[in-house]
Formats: sequence, C-alpha cells, structure tokens
Amino acid sequence: MSDDLIKPEELISRLDYATPKTGWMDTPAVIRPGMYCYSANPKSVEYVGMPHPRKWNPMEDDWLLPENWKDIVLKGLKDRLERFRSLRIFMDICVRCGACADKCHFFLGSGDPKNMPVLRAELLRSVYRNEFTKAGKLLGKMVGARKLTVSVLKEWWYYYFQCTQCRRCSVFCPYGIDTAEVTLLTRELLNELGLNIDWIATPVANCYRTGNHLGIQPHAFKDMLDFFVDDIEEITGINMAPNYNKKGADILFITPSGDVFADPGTYTCMGYLMLFHFLKEKYGLDVTWSTYASEGGNFGSFTSHEMMKRLNAKMYAEAKRLGVKWILGGECGHMWRVIHQYMDTMNGPADFLETPVSPITGTVFSNAKSTKMVHISEFTADLIKHGKLDLDPSRNDHLRVTFHDSCNPSRGMGMFEEPRYVIRSVCRNFFEMPANTIREKTFCCGSGSGLNAGENMELRMIGGFPRANAVRHVHEKYGVNMLSCICAVDRAAFPALMEYWVPEVEVTGVTEMVGNALILPGEIKRTTDLRGEPLPGMEDEDAE
Ligand code: SF4
Ligand code: SF4
Repeated sequence: MSDDLIKPEELISRLDYATPKTGWMDTPAVIRPGMYCYSANPKSVEYVGMPHPRKWNPMEDDWLLPENWKDIVLKGLKDRLERFRSLRIFMDICVRCGACADKCHFFLGSGDPKNMPVLRAELLRSVYRNEFTKAGKLLGKMVGARKLTVSVLKEWWYYYFQCTQCRRCSVFCPYGIDTAEVTLLTRELLNELGLNIDWIATPVANCYRTGNHLGIQPHAFKDMLDFFVDDIEEITGINMAPNYNKKGADILFITPSGDVFADPGTYTCMGYLMLFHFLKEKYGLDVTWSTYASEGGNFGSFTSHEMMKRLNAKMYAEAKRLGVKWILGGECGHMWRVIHQYMDTMNGPADFLETPVSPITGTVFSNAKSTKMVHISEFTADLIKHGKLDLDPSRNDHLRVTFHDSCNPSRGMGMFEEPRYVIRSVCRNFFEMPANTIREKTFCCGSGSGLNAGENMELRMIGGFPRANAVRHVHEKYGVNMLSCICAVDRAAFPALMEYWVPEVEVTGVTEMVGNALILPGEIKRTTDLRGEPLPGMEDEDAE
C-alpha cells in the first residue's frame, strides 16, 4: 500500500458530519487524487463500440467533451425516462425523509453530504426537474431544479463513481428507491460522452475479446488451473484431471476470473477443483470448465444495461455449445445480481437448458427454473445437508471466522443461510458481526462496481470503513482472524482494507474452507491447509 495514503487515525480525526456552511448546489465538487479512478483507455472504449473514445484527464479543466454534449445527455435522459419506469418513479417520489442519508458507507466514511444517497440521486434529479417538470421550469431553484452545466456534469462523474451500487440505502427507503439504479443510469449517460473509468472500460473490453476481465487467453486460463492441480497434489497426494470445454458434460461451471488469477481467490479455486474431483470419484458427476466463458463477473453491469446483456450472453452461448444440462456458478458478486435481477428479461429464459436438479441428492433447484443457474453455496449446502460430503472441520480449527454478506448475493438474491450453513459445517469457530451490519443490512466492501483500482485507495479505505469497523469488533471480542465471503471482488478488495484497518484479519472464500475440510478418497495425511500453512497440531510436522 502506498506510503502517501493518509493514515487511519488521520482519516478518522478529520471525519466531520456537521452541516456544511454552503448549500449543496452552491458547493462545487472538488475532484482530488486518491478519490477517483483514472479515465478510460480510449482503445477499450473503441473496442466495444462505445462513443467518443479519447484521452482525457479529470484533473484538467477541459474534458474534451463533444460540442453537442448537453443535447446528447438530455436526449439520453429523456430516452431512459421513457424506457425505465423505475427511473421516472425514482425521480418523482423521493420525499426527502432522510431515512437513507446515513446508510451509505461512503457518507459514513467521508462525512461528505453528496455521498448521502438522497443527495446523490438529487444530483441527477435536479436536472430532471429543470428539464422535464413544469414546476422546475417555472420555479427553478425554489423547487430544487438546476441547469445542466459542465460543473454539474463533473459532479455527476465524481459522485456516481463514488457509489458502489450496493443498494444498502434502498433497504431503508420507505419507498424502495434504488439509488444503485440511478447510479447505473447516470453512468450510462456519462458513457454517452466517453466518460468512463479505466478499471471498468478495460475489463469490459477484455471480457468481450477473450471471455474474461483480465484478458487471459484460453491456454493461459488452463495453465493456471493445471498449476493449482499440482499444488493440490502436493498437499493431498491426489492427482486430478479437470474437464475443459467438455461437450456433453452434466454441468458447466463458471466463476469470476479473479478466483483463477489473484490470491486469496486462488485458494477458493483450489476448493472448487477438489469438490468437483470428490464428486466425480464418489458419484460420477461430470463438471466442465470453459476456457472461453471464463468469467462469471459482469463489469457491464457497472457500465450500461446493453453492455451487461452482451457480457451475460456469452455464458449461455457456451452452455448451449457444450450441451450441458445447467450451469453452476462460483463465488461471485455481480454475476449473481445480473443472473437474478436482469438475465431473464435480457437473455432469457434459457429454455435450451434443464431446470437444475442435483444428480447426487435429487434436489430440484426450482428457484433457478428460469435462469438454469445454481449458486455453489446452495449446491454445496444441499450436498452437506444430505450427508454427501466427507468432512473434517477440525482442519479449520486454526481459523476464527466471520462472514461478510457480499452486497449482490445478499441484497440481490437473498443468499443468507446457505453460506452460513456451509461455514458451520466445515469450521467450528464462527462468529457473526453485529446484526445491523450483516444480511440485507450488510456494509459494502467499498470497492465494488468497478472501484477496486489502485489510484483511488483513499476512497476505498473511506468506503470500507464501516465494514472494517464491524470486523474489528468481532476481532476484539472473539479473536476473529479470518473474514470469509462469497465474492471475488471482496476477495480482491478486502486484503488491502484489512491491512489498513484490521491487519490481524485475513480473507478467504467459503469454498477454500470446504477444500480444507474435504476428505478426498485415497488422500495422504494432510499437514497443511490450502495456503501451505500447518494444520492445527501439525506445526512441527515439517521438522520431523
Ligand atoms: S447504492 Fe450503496 S454506495 Fe450507492 S448510494 Fe446507496 S448505499 Fe451508497
Ligand atoms: S429514504 Fe427514500 S424517500 Fe427518503 S430521502 Fe432517501 S431516497 Fe428519498
């Protein structure tokens, strides 16, 4: 982590929730380094055919906007108000009750009123009023209307890329206003002017080209998994041969590429490989990986509805090509939000696949009747419930674990019990964080929706503060030393957040702990966990 990053004590001491001296409309955004992500590489914007690719710098006055930028934005807004009834409603029904005001992690960590969800939406709503309502046209500022100017546009860019689309605010809004939707639609408008950030635009272009956000080619994807196979053999003595692009397999497995290429997600990936090998050996289950649909995540969902649809489609095209029965999805965040909230109307229903049935337990996943896609946690929980896995939870006794409900699986699909059931089955020391910070009220990691870059570290530490604070609580109260989650962005974002706020706590995926506990047929006596750390009671084993 950079030495320039403000120290945690300093960050806390400067927190100020006092009412500002000037009204929000009279307080222009001050864009400063550490709080924003670099602008999009024009090559990436061009690759996916998005408009106005160019080099531009948020710190410079001139953003090189197209001449008719205002017309483009207002036409785009009009179009979306007609297409998205939700947007029209969200623009009209907010009563400014303030119930959402202190629910956003970015507001709690920064004290900046423009990070209150109500005000974040108001940034767009004020322009909507001015252009599309009679009251706004006649009474202007008196009714909260304002003109669209370059300064307003810059404010949009700054603050709509300080929202992780986590939807915590919507849980507390009595009208169900979903600020994440407002953010997504405003980002769409910004994209019409070529104003994206690179940590979204380049993964989107990569995914469109090679099938995953990191731009990894199929052979390199396979090489990486084969590398894990070697590691697993060293730990367990078991050699396994995963299926790649196997036509006619029972199930296609898709996970975020972050699990394949970045620690600690790689250990979760080893857990998947071990689980599938176990199921093949014991029950003959045939699971295949795809080196083409090699990404579960969907950075399109941080860009536009159209891009989300395009990236989602490849998973189903691959399932069709391989002729599998249904799709099993790994521990991902936004993949599941897209699947549960959008896929069916965008690319579905996937009628060429079967309603998912576990061939081992006979359980029908009727919740996935339309999407044909089952979450690894519900699949594993079902196996455990039916006594189909051989587990030794004592192998996780060195871990004192808490669980972070990732925003998308929790608020986006109601996945609360399954991961907890799996954790309690494979690990004997589990502790919940405070009730107002978990389940549907979970706090975001602070780096979601494409904000997980290196240059906006201050923003990420601010946004992750409420989550880290709850982790610190269970660390001090119960000695928690491991933060578990079911999202690859979390696994990528939390190590830096923990290092900053609670350095005593590490990060894991749930399936990594399954891999530790799972007894593979014919395995040798294990002395280490999947990270190569000694298992409890095996600390001296290497020395013997
Ligand atoms: S969606 Fe999340 S990040 Fe965005 S305003 Fe609401 S609480 Fe804040
Ligand atoms: S809780 Fe809902 S109605 Fe109240 S201010 Fe927030 S968005 Fe508006």
